Amino acid sequence: MSGLACFKNCGSVMVTGANRGLGLQLVESLVTGGFSPGKIIATARDPGSALKLNELAKNHPQVHIITLDVQSQEGIQKCAEEVHQLVQEEGLNCLINNAGVNVVANLQTVTAEKMIENFHTNAVAPLMITKAFLPLLKQAASRAPRGAVSMSIQRAAVVNMSSLLGSIELVSAEQMNNFNWYPYRTSKSALNMVSRCLAVDLEPDGILCVAVHPGWVRTDMGGSQAPLSPEESVSSLLSVLGGLSEKHHGSFVNYTGEPLPW
Ligand code: NAP
Repeated sequence: MSGLACFKNCGSVMVTGANRGLGLQLVESLVTGGFSPGKIIATARDPGSALKLNELAKNHPQVHIITLDVQSQEGIQKCAEEVHQLVQEEGLNCLINNAGVNVVANLQTVTAEKMIENFHTNAVAPLMITKAFLPLLKQAASRAPRGAVSMSIQRAAVVNMSSLLGSIELVSAEQMNNFNWYPYRTSKSALNMVSRCLAVDLEPDGILCVAVHPGWVRTDMGGSQAPLSPEESVSSLLSVLGGLSEKHHGSFVNYTGEPLPW
């Protein structure tokens, strides 16, 4: 079975920040690719203005839109309760922590406030969301049929949308010339550590956890110079996610499937 086809056997997938960019593309590719999961929970902080997402939900009843500002702890709890109502005892199979911001600042312009703002959305929120959804992820993991692959997105998984720019090993003078962004880069390094720690903590429950790099993509964040379209990035990424197993657990994976250095 191809990676993408694995999503057809997945009960539910939740994507944060699904109103534009890669989040919207993830939802669109999942519903239109012929391998839709049973339920797609697409969160957005202002669903009323998410026109394309609303259009998708209108044409595909498996798409459920829920309000979530990932910086709001109250909002996270409320969202978890709403998702519980939707998925009931089946739990949540795949959580994609996609929402992110790039607070651009170099050494001259960086401030404590800019660092904290970027950390909150990119590193703290994915951890708090995962924590709030843990009962639903555990519920899904516990329902795995006998003999099934021990870890997979069909069972239960947390996917953290990270970035190559968070890799400490890959920092070079050349890369810093082009992407001299202290808040963003450090927030993604922190997200990578969150992913590693979660991988250790969630392993006994059979919940897969990975950090992924979607490539450099033409979105509002990636800009018009990026080499990849959202469709290209997401089509490859979904194939990779669908094929994840315990051998990928706790790793940092490129959208093409290769392992990346931390
Ligand atoms: P984007 O086009 O700027 O979209 C960002 C998404 O995150 C939007 O839906 C935005 O919602 C949402 N978001 C931001 N803050 C939020 C909050 N507090 N609560 C809820 N939603 C919030 O970015 P993208 O390119 O699609 O990036 C998606 C993910 O991929 C990010 O984590 C990014 O770091 C990562 N990534 C992207 C690239 C790239 O080249 N594009 C490369 C590496 C990694 P609003 O519309 O409400 O602001």
